[in-house]
Amino acid sequence: MQPSSGEAEAVALRVAATVRPDVRGLSAYAVGHAPGAVKLDAMENPYDLPAEVRDDIAAAVRATPLNRYPAGRNDALEAAVRTAFGVPGPAALLFGNGSDELIHLVVQACCQPGDVVMSPVPSFVIFAMAARLNHARFVGVPLTPDFELDLPAMLAAIQAHRPKVIFLAVPNNPTGGRWTDEAISAILAAAPGLVVIDEAYQPFCDGTWMPRAAELDNAVVLRTVSKIGLAGLRFGYLAGAPAWIAEFDKVRPPYNIDVLTQAVLLAVLRHKPVLDGQAARLRADRPVLAAALAALPGVTVYPSSANFLLVRFSGKMGANAVHQALKTRKIRVRDFPDDDSALAGCLRISLGTPDEHAALLAALRDILS
Ligand SMILES: *Cc1c(COP(=O)(O)O)cnc(C)c1O
Repeated sequence: MQPSSGEAEAVALRVAATVRPDVRGLSAYAVGHAPGAVKLDAMENPYDLPAEVRDDIAAAVRATPLNRYPAGRNDALEAAVRTAFGVPGPAALLFGNGSDELIHLVVQACCQPGDVVMSPVPSFVIFAMAARLNHARFVGVPLTPDFELDLPAMLAAIQAHRPKVIFLAVPNNPTGGRWTDEAISAILAAAPGLVVIDEAYQPFCDGTWMPRAAELDNAVVLRTVSKIGLAGLRFGYLAGAPAWIAEFDKVRPPYNIDVLTQAVLLAVLRHKPVLDGQAARLRADRPVLAAALAALPGVTVYPSSANFLLVRFSGKMGANAVHQALKTRKIRVRDFPDDDSALAGCLRISLGTPDEHAALLAALRDILS
């Protein structure tokens, strides 16, 4: 039965009186649905898993009972994650329902109302979101106009705001650059609280802080399997000194990783070279796409160490118009608000298959001519 308009009004009033005003003022995280489109908007791996891996996944799912809650520990999965991703022996591990969940758990565990969470901006929007939802104060430190880390500004902001938690996405999303180890070391030395080094895009570049995850006394390393082909699974992991991880584990929902995710991930990690091969392929195709885009009129491509390119459109046609024109041609890329923010005029384009790159380039040549 449809509620009468009087009932709907009563519900709206009760919602307005009860739900936090800052939550009511938010818009839900927009997830694009575009069946049949060339999807280059969400940093997904465009390659599917081969049949033998799918067979192993099916067998693992068949063998998994669904009537029991997930066990407290999964030693086999923990061992597989350590081996597959080079987690050092002395580091403790915490698993999350996507690394998004781990970002929220770290802020929950560290921040009291009014405490500061800091990151360079623009960066991953969930850092600011997690801060706000947990009543912390988010301080964003602008990157330089070329989207490089402004280390002096970062150090000054740390001094001024004494952040409890600093998030550093390395490489950074949505700009693609990788901050130098020297700059990160300087931030670690200045930070009064915890630094979370978010290596979501590490598989697409060379450096990593993972080998040092256990010895750093004020930093932990965050990773995800989303960008290497398993975005649908929802699995992230946090590695660090046991004293940090033990505290974060206390705020984790007890059954946050479901049994199917655990079983499927374990099966897929037996075929880790398949994932590595796909990441290497994307990485090899990155400079080819970057060069082809940079050759288009009015197009600037920023350096990327990730599986996407941030591209600026300074010709007659603005980025938002280009985005719309691509959308009508069934090609999805990520756009940004047309305001005075640093990303205005840019589009973020995820790496796809060579065929998808060809389709994108043909469409852009047509649109920009
Ligand atoms: C995509 C992304 C994540 C989120 O990964 P999930 O594991 O899918 O939640 C975390 N950090 C950064 C910087 C990202 O770009």
